Amino acid sequence: MTSFREFAETCQAIEKISSTIETTNKVSELLRKVDAEELPLATHFIMSEVFPAWSGEQLGIGTSLLYAALSRASGMSIKSIEALIRTTGDIGDAALLVLKEKRKNQATFSSFMEEEPELSITEVYQRFKTASEATGKGSQDVKIKNLQFLFNSSSPREAKYISRLALEELRIGVGEGVVRDAIAKAFSVPADVVEHAFMVTNDLGIVAEAAKKGGLEALETLGIEINRPIKMMLSQISPDIDSDIRDMKEAAVEWKFDGARVQIHKDGNSVTLFSRKLENVTNSLPDLVEIVRKHVKAESAILDGEAVAVDEKGKPRAFQEILKRFRRKYDVEEKAAGIPIQLNLFDIMYLNGKTLIDLPLLERRKALESCVESSVEDSKSISVDEQVITGDLELVEKIYREALKAGHEGIMVKNPGSVYSPGKRGKNWLKKKPLMETLDLAVVGAEWGFGRRANLIGSYTVACYDPETSRFLQIGKVGTGLTDEQLRELTGMLTGLMEGESGGVFAVRPEVVLEVAFEEIQKSPNYASGFALRFPRFIRVRNDKAPEEADSIQRIERVYAQQLKRL
Ligand code: AMP
Repeated sequence: MTSFREFAETCQAIEKISSTIETTNKVSELLRKVDAEELPLATHFIMSEVFPAWSGEQLGIGTSLLYAALSRASGMSIKSIEALIRTTGDIGDAALLVLKEKRKNQATFSSFMEEEPELSITEVYQRFKTASEATGKGSQDVKIKNLQFLFNSSSPREAKYISRLALEELRIGVGEGVVRDAIAKAFSVPADVVEHAFMVTNDLGIVAEAAKKGGLEALETLGIEINRPIKMMLSQISPDIDSDIRDMKEAAVEWKFDGARVQIHKDGNSVTLFSRKLENVTNSLPDLVEIVRKHVKAESAILDGEAVAVDEKGKPRAFQEILKRFRRKYDVEEKAAGIPIQLNLFDIMYLNGKTLIDLPLLERRKALESCVESSVEDSKSISVDEQVITGDLELVEKIYREALKAGHEGIMVKNPGSVYSPGKRGKNWLKKKPLMETLDLAVVGAEWGFGRRANLIGSYTVACYDPETSRFLQIGKVGTGLTDEQLRELTGMLTGLMEGESGGVFAVRPEVVLEVAFEEIQKSPNYASGFALRFPRFIRVRNDKAPEEADSIQRIERVYAQQLKRL
């Protein structure tokens, strides 16, 4: 087994370097050292995850729990620990100081301490897992005890990274791109093969283990598995859709339905549904499960589509309505009767044991049509969305206007020969919708309001995302456009995520994404992104988006450049 010390040393080394190449080298050295069986754990750890994102397992350790465990392990009061966090600005650095202090006090007994068994990566994982699985009465105590054990058995440096890992934020800027390249380097396999293996498994831990155990051959045999959701293929806005269609010669044009994305896994009679964030939403949508059971004629399949909430006339309802269905935990049946859902399927990634993502869109579509039966009485509840293959720009415009008239968002223009690229945003799926420039931004800071709104968060610092460094870069503050009810809802969502405070502004762990409208993007030295928004205005909460899906700094740069062109 590999000691957690090795892992902590790698984190420490990475923290001191800024070059991506050197970071990749450090990660690759670590991956080479770690035992094959522990590789999945170390691979997730280094990306600040304890469980693979697709698994739906939640660590669920909050700051107060962590402080309590540190306090019990060190004998230092929670108040003193909080004071240390305020001065260091970081739980990891505070934990390091707390444990150093404890060591100092214990120095007189410590002659035998060096012989303590070292913590292994597996042990750290198991303690986290036991803590995460504790539920009900007494569960807080179980969680604290497991964390306390980890702090009691770790060196100050290990404690620094254990505490950061407990909050799933190592602050070393290692994301999927770095780990993919590190796997390629560590086990001498091509990066594109690693990338493909990642796309089908959605788990770099599995990929790293396969690469170590069986090299290229093992990676090539990895495939999609039912009930392990893959990332959704994404679309981008085209600045000039006509010229893109001309480039494609012929495009596959579909309505862009105004609903919520759903990935459907059918395995015999069992149906599992995943949201865009890959959360398991099966229990909230029993009617959808039934529809799939009834109308999808395949032994096993993975399908992609948009679930739309409709009114009595079959017209789409507001986006918020479908989200209510996806988030419903209680009285699910009642809600299902009140807000019926229509399922529009537009892709298939797996059918009867075969991975289809490498087939061109048009062939996947044939497979999709072959297994969806829509000629029965309630066929309106499920359909393969209509697709027109054309290079005729007028016809495309006509379809666009029809989609808007029917209450949907616009159209999707897809490359008919393109493969399904999980997690990728590119030119193969383009969207056209009415121009109302908005950005999806993660909340990273908060300030309490004044007067009547003193007990509500009144201002939200928002940030875009830099996928290359896995960091959130601030771009502005949003405080207008919100009703009292929305403020109350957001305050509820954010209070548990608040961390240190400086000058009345609380740092907020990025989890909530807001859609924000604005007049203009300006260059600004005041924010880490280098940009600021003029007249930012809250539009809605994007509950369906993970923080890493906030708009990227690259998109901000593109929108800024387009703006300049328009001036
Ligand atoms: P956006 O959320 O604005 O980035 O737009 C992409 C989203 O549009 C996808 O994630 C789907 O949820 C949704 N969508 C609606 N209709 C389609 C379609 N025909 N093909 C692909 N995506 C669609």
